[in-house]
Amino acid sequence: MQRIVLASRPEAQASEDNFRLEVAGLPQPGKGEVIVKVHYMSLDPYMRGRMNAGKSYAAPVEIGETMTAGGVGEVIASNSPDFVPGDFALGMFGWASHACIRASEIRKLDPQMAPLTTALGVLGMPGFTAWHGLQAYGRPKAGETLVVAAATGPVGSMVGQLAKQAGLRVVGIAGGEDKCKLAVEAFGFDSCLDHRALGSAEALSAALAAACPDGIDIYYENVGGKVLEAVLPLMNSFGRIPVCGMIAWYNSAETELTAPAIWRSVLTKFLSVNGFIIFNHYDRYPEFLQQVAPKIASGEIKYLEDIAEGLENAPKTFLSMMQGGNTGKQIVKLV
Ligand code: NDP
Repeated sequence: MQRIVLASRPEAQASEDNFRLEVAGLPQPGKGEVIVKVHYMSLDPYMRGRMNAGKSYAAPVEIGETMTAGGVGEVIASNSPDFVPGDFALGMFGWASHACIRASEIRKLDPQMAPLTTALGVLGMPGFTAWHGLQAYGRPKAGETLVVAAATGPVGSMVGQLAKQAGLRVVGIAGGEDKCKLAVEAFGFDSCLDHRALGSAEALSAALAAACPDGIDIYYENVGGKVLEAVLPLMNSFGRIPVCGMIAWYNSAETELTAPAIWRSVLTKFLSVNGFIIFNHYDRYPEFLQQVAPKIASGEIKYLEDIAEGLENAPKTFLSMMQGGNTGKQIVKLV
């Protein structure tokens, strides 16, 4: 089997040198374990945090350890009554061609129900994150205005579509003309602003003010950085900010924002700011699937996937995604 391990910790910007491809023998499954041949592996922004030392909401990946990842694969050997070879499953298989894992830690998938890749994106962790974060902390009401960045990614595109269906005005922020066009034409956003072309937080804020004539009621926070700086002055009183991610700050600290400026906005505009980590909310996952899966099947909710090929290309694909190189849910196809 092949796997990619964390070779060193990044100083700030992660690079390909931080990863190493290794070849190892395939283990025999112990009692209650299965061997899975990974077909698709998910690349997600949270993985950048796992490369750092120190305690966060999850333990870091240790040097020499296989990088963490969700994946979809085929059971090729089973020492569990719950799986037979040929079954497909979703699990945390890592950046690896195969995994030996406890059957109780994986979930069987029916490839007839939905394409296998959707379990990593629109019907998986990112789609669920969008649905839960918007409902629980955004508390959308028809007629309000919502802003979300990384608008064509799996979280942003789902947030935007759900908010449109709930009757909100939805303004996206994305990197590049093509992504902005996609947000409007494929995902139905009312408008989308190109944060790269606009450049400064001031220019973005001015463009946002024009796109949001009634102010912003919900800012679904995916990125932090300049986007947050541009949005805060436009928030309406009693606005809500589900804090889902801050990718602009995962590698570095680009912004003029200071804690006093942020807290002043929160205080004077009576904002509700809710951080959340989706891994703590999986009790709601069946409800999400029940509500959203039929809408995916009917085409009422659209999704986009960006599928790279080959485990060896995972590091450069991951680094590119962190800079906006992906269009849609980033997946790596291994088989
Ligand atoms: P995406 O597939 O959308 O990929 C990340 C995107 O972030 C890039 O494509 C790029 O889009 C955008 N981006 C990168 N750097 C910047 C920057 N400096 N300023 C603005 N945008 C930037 O990711 P996901 O949909 O998977 O995740 C979106 C966010 O949600 C992430 O922050 C992630 O960590 C978070 N998340 C949080 C979870 C939780 O439990 N709280 C669970 C899942 C995701 P573009 O080119 O359009 O700018």
